[in-house]
Amino acid sequence: MAEPELRADARVAMRDPAAMLERLCAHFVEHGTVTHHDSGARLEGRFGAVELGSADGALDIAVTSPNETYLFVVTSSVAEHLHEFAEGEALQVGWRGSLPEQPRIPYFRETVVRDAYDVTPAMRRVILTCEDTAHFESGGLHVSVLIPPAGREPVWPGVGPDNRVIWPAGADELIRRIYTIRSIDRQRRELAIDVVLHDASPGSTWARNARSGDRVGLLGPGGGDVVAADWYLLCGDETALPAIARIAAELPATARAEIVIEVADRAEQQELSSQAAIDVTWLHRGDAPAGTTDLLPRAVMGVTPPESGNPFVFVGCEQAAARAIRKHLRSVWKLPKDRHLVAAYWRHGHADAHDHGE
Ligand SMILES: Cc1cc2nc3c(=O)[nH]c(=O)nc-3n(C[C@H](O)[C@H](O)[C@H](O)COP(=O)(O)OP(=O)(O)OC[C@H]3O[C@@H](n4cnc5c(N)ncnc54)[C@H](O)[C@@H]3O)c2cc1C
Repeated sequence: MAEPELRADARVAMRDPAAMLERLCAHFVEHGTVTHHDSGARLEGRFGAVELGSADGALDIAVTSPNETYLFVVTSSVAEHLHEFAEGEALQVGWRGSLPEQPRIPYFRETVVRDAYDVTPAMRRVILTCEDTAHFESGGLHVSVLIPPAGREPVWPGVGPDNRVIWPAGADELIRRIYTIRSIDRQRRELAIDVVLHDASPGSTWARNARSGDRVGLLGPGGGDVVAADWYLLCGDETALPAIARIAAELPATARAEIVIEVADRAEQQELSSQAAIDVTWLHRGDAPAGTTDLLPRAVMGVTPPESGNPFVFVGCEQAAARAIRKHLRSVWKLPKDRHLVAAYWRHGHADAHDHGE
């Protein structure tokens, strides 16, 4: 039986509600479907629907979503955009409806480091424990890791009265980096995150120094959706090795997968296990710095997809390689958008730069 829809409403007084309605529609058209009708407009996307109507001096907003997390995402995002588009006008956004009395981010969990050790010379596994590991079992592969300043009591993000996320600032500011949950051990209540060690970057430093008892926040999970297929190409550098290993581990015995992974050298290779028939190729870049070779795009150009059946391609790597591969899959393989997910996991020379893939 389908879950009942959750709903939240707000009436927000403002100078020009009709103009605000049009700004919201113009912005949202990038993310979903916008339908104008006699009394306003309807926005529909992955997380729910928003009905907008401009009345006398106010914008009426009705949000419907299938669950608490999505309802929070939509109401929070609508509130953010109202304030962004208000051009200095002070708006009061008060939601009524199926929202918890104590506002909280439904996809935030505090976790505690249980252990940390090197899997290979440049990959460190951090084992986190939390009460509610089941929360991370569905909905996506990745999390935003919130790293508190060293030696300070963590202050986690909160929620304002309008459902906007309030981030700690100043000395309490958190570092945010995206990582993949490599595996989940429900019995031991443990999550494993594999972190590439490079430079003295914030993420690498966190993993190098992680000690049992350290607290860390996680937002998620999300992203990395792999569509059912009978043939897969899973491809990436070491940042996507945790995602590829998890995807391979969850493939059914009936699937076949070609796996291509770029690492520095043989010492960085890891055993991958799967019920599916997998064929793994390791590419070694040797002394070349990560993110500077075209090994991955060239390898993908050398793969011939099966002539029949249902393919799916998953790619995670440095931005330039991701772009070259995406272009090849679309222009040469003519792969439809719903048959590939190509994400830039990082960008050479830029901190905290990524896209979640198209
Ligand atoms: C969906 C998703 C899932 C991801 N999963 C993982 C994962 O499971 N494990 C993992 O290790 N990473 C993963 N990443 C990549 C990770 O988020 C980035 O590498 C991130 O930039 C690391 O943060 P940092 O603090 O180490 O470096 P930043 O502060 O972001 O960058 C500092 C400098 O280091 C460079 N740099 C960043 N990453 C690398 C790298 N890997 N090698 C060499 N130079 C680099 C940057 O270009 C910049 O010049 C994922 C990214 C995404 C988008």
